[in-house]
Amino acid sequence: MQTDELRPYLPFALPDIGQAEIDEVVRTLKSGWITSGPTTARFEKEFAEHLGGEVQAVAVNSATAGLHLAVEALGIGPGDEVIVPVHTFTATAEVVRYMGADPVFVDVDPVTLNIDATLLADALTDRTRAIIPVHYGGLACDMRSILSFAKSHGLAVVEDAAHALPTTFEGQPIGSLETDACVFSFYATKTLATGEGGMLVTRNKEIATRARTMRLHGINRDVFDRYQAGGPWYYEVVAPGYKYNMTDIAAAIGVHQLRRLSEMHSRREFVAQRYTEAFRELPLQLPSAGTSQDCHAWHLYPIRLAPDCGIDRNAMVAHMNAHGIGVSVHYVPLHMQPYWRDRYQLTEEAFPVSSAAYQSMLSIPIYSKMDDASVERVIGAVKSAFERSPK
Ligand SMILES: *Cc1c(COP(=O)(O)O)cnc(C)c1O
Repeated sequence: MQTDELRPYLPFALPDIGQAEIDEVVRTLKSGWITSGPTTARFEKEFAEHLGGEVQAVAVNSATAGLHLAVEALGIGPGDEVIVPVHTFTATAEVVRYMGADPVFVDVDPVTLNIDATLLADALTDRTRAIIPVHYGGLACDMRSILSFAKSHGLAVVEDAAHALPTTFEGQPIGSLETDACVFSFYATKTLATGEGGMLVTRNKEIATRARTMRLHGINRDVFDRYQAGGPWYYEVVAPGYKYNMTDIAAAIGVHQLRRLSEMHSRREFVAQRYTEAFRELPLQLPSAGTSQDCHAWHLYPIRLAPDCGIDRNAMVAHMNAHGIGVSVHYVPLHMQPYWRDRYQLTEEAFPVSSAAYQSMLSIPIYSKMDDASVERVIGAVKSAFERSPK
């Protein structure tokens, strides 16, 4: 601990912004077009191409906005139910409430912490309209089971892919599967970061058109089209839409982040491999790496402390902080959040896997800006927690 006091604090997460992103932002600022315009259109086109070109990409100012637009486009409303995993960020479920519908919470798989597809049948009622699976940490859900369940019960599927770039499922990139919509986040800590931002991706032209309209006040053409086409002043409002458009300043960062995605991902993968090697002998449950054929985005590296390892989660968090290392917890599950717990009378016993995972887990730093010394420093700090703890 003595040496750590002299070392700078190692943040839990940091964006990886290169000179190309900075130059493009400056170009955008000088161009005179700083809100949704040519750079946003270019980012959408390049993002869709990155996913194989069969999808439409709709840029928005957050993943939360994208998820909201997706459930809105599906026509979900009061009286409807949407199945969501309990072990997620509140945005996954809150967009269901935006529409006046009710989320139905499902526990997660003990290995992957993704929604447990074997529990979907228990959550099904005659009001169920959709499922929002979350690819937790960047590992794809069991999409085969989820899609076949959805198909046999006539349910829509909207993927919360906030962690899942560039994740693949059975070799196919997340964003290119046969779901109704898939939403990525470009929040500051995510694997592609524009500060705030998101992308709704869909194969369904009607969903794309509705989302494009609703992301900008329910106006039937966006600003870019209006100023490019012949009649620049005329527009029609067809619905009470939202203000969810992406700015060209954010898109300027996005186009270059997308180019650097595989390089940034390789670094995250390297960090994950180092951790997995180094922690093999420790009393920890390490995150599932998935199958060797598939890509894990490694947005998170959550470790779970074994029950009798001599240190509990809160002590471990304090230990890491004392070593000058930022850590976090993903997540305080939704059944333990006052709003969700009280509104739907949720109990810890109803979600045993998520409850137990929460008690034992913390996420340690994993990001492309981490140098080798920082990775080794995290490893040293984690290991020392077990050396010091009384057995
Ligand atoms: C970050 C995150 C979101 C929300 O993303 P924003 O772009 O911040 O709106 C939604 N779901 C999950 C699982 C997330 O981690």
